[in-house]
Amino acid sequence: MKARTMARLQRTETPHTDWCARDHRCGIDTHRAPDVIADATGGRGVITRVRAGDREYAEITIRVRLDHRDPIAVRQVGLTLHLIRRLIGAVAAVRPDALTGGASRIAIGRKAA
Ligand SMILES: [Zn+2]
Repeated sequence: MKARTMARLQRTETPHTDWCARDHRCGIDTHRAPDVIADATGGRGVITRVRAGDREYAEITIRVRLDHRDPIAVRQVGLTLHLIRRLIGAVAAVRPDALTGGASRIAIGRKAA
């Protein structure tokens, strides 16, 4: 019996979006916008809009400065996890209709080069 060492991947190419970077960040079926950076005291967030197949999502990488004392750092990690869950829940709870119209956009920071 032959062992299969690699899964066979078949991906269907999808066209670039109006907002994707149209460069090395895009793949065959995944498209990525330029990163948006949100600097804050004690850390930084990098947010990227992504379309993978027929789904879109915001990919977020954050860096939060931790205290040098381990017990405090552990609690800070737990607090960060808690707040990330709240963030995800808050964004998911906003009805799409509430985001249409002429509401001003929240200033996030600067775009990465
Ligand atoms: Zn693209």
